[in-house]
Amino acid sequence: MVYTPFPMDILTAIRSAEDIVVIGHSNPDGDCVFSQLALSRVLTSLGKHVTLLNEGPFARDEIARFENMFLTEAPSSLVERNPLVIVVDCSTIDRPGKVIAPFASCRMIVLDHHSSGEPFTDSSLMYIQPLSVSTTLIVDALREALGVPLDQTTASYIYKGFVTDTGFFHFISDKVGGETLRRVSHLVDHGVSPYCVYDEMHDGKSLSYFKGVAGLVDRVQSRYDGALLYTWQTDDDGFEGKPADDIYAQLLQVEGVRVVLFFKQKEDEIDIGMRSKNGSGIDIGAFASSHGGGGHRYAAGAKVKGELDDVIRNTIEDLRSVL
Ligand code: 5GP
Ligand code: MN
Repeated sequence: MVYTPFPMDILTAIRSAEDIVVIGHSNPDGDCVFSQLALSRVLTSLGKHVTLLNEGPFARDEIARFENMFLTEAPSSLVERNPLVIVVDCSTIDRPGKVIAPFASCRMIVLDHHSSGEPFTDSSLMYIQPLSVSTTLIVDALREALGVPLDQTTASYIYKGFVTDTGFFHFISDKVGGETLRRVSHLVDHGVSPYCVYDEMHDGKSLSYFKGVAGLVDRVQSRYDGALLYTWQTDDDGFEGKPADDIYAQLLQVEGVRVVLFFKQKEDEIDIGMRSKNGSGIDIGAFASSHGGGGHRYAAGAKVKGELDDVIRNTIEDLRSVL
């Protein structure tokens, strides 16, 4: 059973709260943003006053138009009301960035599905289920536990988080498949069109975006007899859009590959995106954790200070023992 019953403390804390702040991780993806949005609708329907906090940036195309529904800083008037805080899709306390600090003394519920991380609230207020393919499906289970009926908009948010984190039904194992897909079929029964959502979340890219992806694929390096493939992106690439997922999708199909790394130069750090191949026996989330990051068994990341060349060289060397 993936969606085990929620701790009574979580349900009681939500039922008795008036003000609730829902916080997600910085540089949010679809699962994070749509978990926040879906949870907001569930809580609002229970009469709660809900504030959505996320420091952004809302860089990905599929979430950009929802930015105006979020605050990027905590208003002091809200902090003074001592709200209940619900943190979604975060496995460590640093993931939300600076927005969480003002609420340090508030009661905090954590809803997450990462396999590696550091607990940062009471165990009775945590619902962490690594077998859930997305955090939005945890929000759906919570909705059910709170007795809130599903509506079409909430269903579409839950579905969009689900497809984001499963690569549109790709990363679902037989271990969780039946229960997961029964939950998803319920979303479709409530008016979600998988075909329309796919197009809505992919269409509108420029041709130059795909030429850029081709350039990043063109510079891919292979190490350890092809078990590792990696590429990188610098400011000089002048890239618009987020190419990483398209690159992982291609490179993980290459014969013999076990790990794909994508190094992205940021202002003062290198953002390392990490993927391991299903069946490779490599828990890339554990590797990311040991480098100050985190994630899941097959999808993870970390942020590392240093020059791009050094970070690439050191990370490859550290992978030697894992591979
Ligand atoms: P993505 O590559 O799609 O940004 O992230 C893949 C997974 O790894 C996500 O579940 C994400 O939360 C996690 N992840 C990515 N970067 C970091 C990081 O710097 N720190 C932590 N703790 N997790 C990360
Ligand atoms: Mn997620």
